[in-house]
Formats: sequence, C-alpha cells, structure tokens
Amino acid sequence: MENTELLINAVYVLSAALFIFGLKLLGHPSTARRGNLLSSLGMLVAIVVTMLDQQIISYEFIIVAILAGSAVGAFIAKKVALTEMPEMVSLLNGVGGLASLFVALAMILAGSAIDTHLFVIVLVAIAIGGITFSGSVIAWAKLSGKIPKLVSSGSTVFKGQAIVNAFIVLAIVTFGTLSVFYPSLEVYVYAFVALCIVLGVMLVLPIGGADMPVVISLLNSYSGLAACAAGLAINNNLLIVAGALVGASGIILTSIMCKAMNRSLTNVLFSGFQSVTTSNIKIEGEVKPMAADDAYYVLEAAQSVVVIPGYGMAVAQAQHAMKELQVLLEENGAEVVYGIHPVAGRMPGHMNVLLAEADVSYELLLEMDEVNPRMEGFDVAIVIGANDVVNPAARDMEGSPIYGMPVINADLAKNVFILKRGMASGFAGVENPLFFKDNARMIFGDAKDTLNSIIRQFSE
Ligand code: NDP
Repeated sequence: MENTELLINAVYVLSAALFIFGLKLLGHPSTARRGNLLSSLGMLVAIVVTMLDQQIISYEFIIVAILAGSAVGAFIAKKVALTEMPEMVSLLNGVGGLASLFVALAMILAGSAIDTHLFVIVLVAIAIGGITFSGSVIAWAKLSGKIPKLVSSGSTVFKGQAIVNAFIVLAIVTFGTLSVFYPSLEVYVYAFVALCIVLGVMLVLPIGGADMPVVISLLNSYSGLAACAAGLAINNNLLIVAGALVGASGIILTSIMCKAMNRSLTNVLFSGFQSVTTSNIKIEGEVKPMAADDAYYVLEAAQSVVVIPGYGMAVAQAQHAMKELQVLLEENGAEVVYGIHPVAGRMPGHMNVLLAEADVSYELLLEMDEVNPRMEGFDVAIVIGANDVVNPAARDMEGSPIYGMPVINADLAKNVFILKRGMASGFAGVENPLFFKDNARMIFGDAKDTLNSIIRQFSE
C-alpha cells in the first residue's frame, strides 16, 4: 500500500470512530449537540483527506460542487420552517440515493473494465439509489400535499398494483442481467436505471397518510445502503462504513416507529392504509367549548398537570408560552410533566426538539409508556395541537383506520383541555371521539394565543 493510501485509510478509521461516537452521543438530548458536532467533524476530516487521493481528476469540479451544494444547503436550512422538516429530510434522503446512483453509474459509463462480481454490486447501488430517489420524491410530494389524496388517508392503490410491481421487478432483473453480459450496450443500463426509478414511485405511492413517518425512516435506511453499495463499487472504505451506519440506524428507527404505531413493516409497505372511513363509526357525546379564562380556574386548583403536545404546537410555535405556563403552575404548587408520543408532530423527536428550544427540562418529558399508567391521577391533561396521538378510537374502536396504534390516554385524566383552532382532523384524517367525552373541553383558537390568555389570568 502506498503511503498516501495508508494515510487516507488511517484517517478514515478516525472518521469512522468519530461517526460512531457521535451517534452514541445522539442517544440523549443533553449530549446530542456534541454528537452532531463530532460526526460533522468526522465528515470534514474524511472529505479533506479524500482530496489527497491520486485518482481525483478534477479539483475544479469538486470545488464548484462543494460551493454550490453548501450554498443551496445553507439557503434551504435557513428558509425551511421546523414544521416542514420531514419534507426536507425526505428530499435529503432522495438526493443521497441519487448521489449513490450517479457514483455507481459513472463506474459503468466510464468504460473501465469491471468484473462480473463488481458489476453486480454496481447494479445493486444503482437499484437502491434509484428506488430511494424516486420513493423519497413521492414521500416529499405526499407530505407537502402535492399529490391529491384519492382517499381520506392519502393512500393511492389501484387494482393489480402488486402484479404491475412484480413485472417491473422482473424487467429490472432482466435488464440488469443483460447489462452484465453486454456491458458495451449502454441502453440496457439506462433501461435498468429508469425501471428502478419507476419501482421507487410504485412502492411509495400506495403507502398512505399516517404511515409516512415509517416510510421516510425506511428510505433513510435505503439511502445508507445505497451509499454502502456505492462504497463497495468504488472501493472506498469510509463510504462503506458510513453507509452501513446510516442503513443500520435507519432500520432501527423504522422498527421503533412501527412498534409505536403497532404495525408490522410488511403491513405498512404492502397493505396501503386501510381506506375505511369513520362515517360508519358512531361517536357519542357532544363538543363542549370553553373559554381560556375559565380554564384558568381549573388549572389554578390543579395539583398535577400533564401536557400532551402535537403537531399543532409546532404550527402555533406555542412551546415558549407553554414553558411560561409550566413555571406559573409549578409556582402555584402543581406538578407538571409532558407526555411525548413517539410519532407526535411530523418527525421523530419533533416535540423533544421544540421543548428543548423552550428550555423545558428533559426530566419532565415522559414517554408514552411512562405517562399512560399515571394518567388517571392527573387533574388536568392539556392537549396542545395533538389529535391522532390522543385518539381513543385507536384503543376502543375496532374498524377505525387507526385501531391498534398505541396512543396517549389523555381521556383518562380527570379533566382534558384540548387546544386547537377548530374541529379539523389530524394527519390520519380520522375523527377523534376524545373531543366528545364528558371530561373534555375544547378551547378553540391558536394554541399560543390560548396559552397566553391563560398566562395573563395567572399574572393578574
Ligand atoms: P395531528 O396531525 O394528528 O393533529 C394536529 C392538530 O393540530 C390538528 O388537528 C389541528 O387542528 C391542530 N392545529 C394546527 N395548527 C394549530 C394551531 N395553530 N393551534 C392549535 N392547534 C393547531 O398531530 P399529532 O401530533 O397528534 O399526530 C401526528 C400525526 O402525524 C400522526 O398521525 C403521525 O403518524 C403523523 N406523522 C408523524 C410523523 C413523525 O415522524 N412524528 C411524520 C409524518 C406524519 P385544527 O386545524 O382544528 O387547529
């Protein structure tokens, strides 16, 4: 091994160690920032040392690409609101897949002599990269409402879809095999690429509404696997390690999310979201609106309060007002904790990020399994912009599209205050019987405004 190659690989080992240590630190909110920094440092070191590689033929192109990519990245990061983060993550996964596809495709188009074994690896990288790219674009389009919802849950399934998919897979294998045997006929490779892209579209299109978080996490894992395969194709050790880390962590997150939604991965991927509408489910009781001022009197007397945040808290940016109210309640002698559902909001950890931004102590954030057994003991449950994650239909109503998804049992608290603007349904598009329960009161309006009204009462 040449000296430069030795140096590059030694630094790659250091980078890999930084990635792994960084990932470990990401495991807790208090160390997550440091973890992020360490991993970024690992990536920077890796990029710098890779530039020493003798095989690099154009530094000019690389510098232009780095500058253009950084500018676009910085612009998007500044512009994107926290509520649009899942769409952004989805697009980033897609771009990762596309990058691996290009790297692998370049191996073939450069005309270098590749043995059959390597050719197959290159094709695997192209396939996973292509599926990740188009699947992520569809996930992005679905999340941002660019694809019209054909049924209330947003799943798009047509008759015979499985058969069409089987034909596409067969065609992919055929063109892949042809391109291995006739590498000089580039048309086979192009057909292979196009079909993989079509397959990505076909696989994600039927997956509906509330299953999107699982899909995004799975696509994240795919983008890692694509990078891993591209690393094998170009014989870059760090790309293999980094890709494997992303692939493995993505799949772990996917399984955690499936568990949180009580669905198996096969069920999420191949069944579409059940297009049962709630119209055949009868909800009893009536909606009881309440003014923010009246909520104050109940809260003033409360000894224990659980706050259950959801996507609406992110929309209203109500986390700072909630922290203010938390302090007032604590000064008044009440215990305040937060009940965090694993898929509350629009990305994993969404609520944790918002509450950390408002300086809410991590110790007060209880996971669903910790908070549910205590629910009956709480005087008040304040539901801030959460809907699906507190929907008791998931527990009680067989036939509801979300039946079986574990939820936070807010309805079991003595009083439930629901802060939302109207009676709109949540992401899954299903009605919520919680709003009709005897112990529930709807406090209509923007969550931040409502919280500020209650805070004003406390300070008067
Ligand atoms: P939901 O989407 O179920 O409900 C959010 C509620 O917030 C709406 O009903 C809306 O009602 C209310 N809201 C919106 N804006 C405001 C505002 N300014 N003030 C007060 N309320 C507001 O959110 P949940 O967090 O309960 O559930 C998350 C859902 O998203 C789940 O179905 C999950 O599967 C899905 N999902 C989760 C992802 C994740 O990774 N966490 C990613 C993608 C999807 P109204 O309009 O009446 O105010």
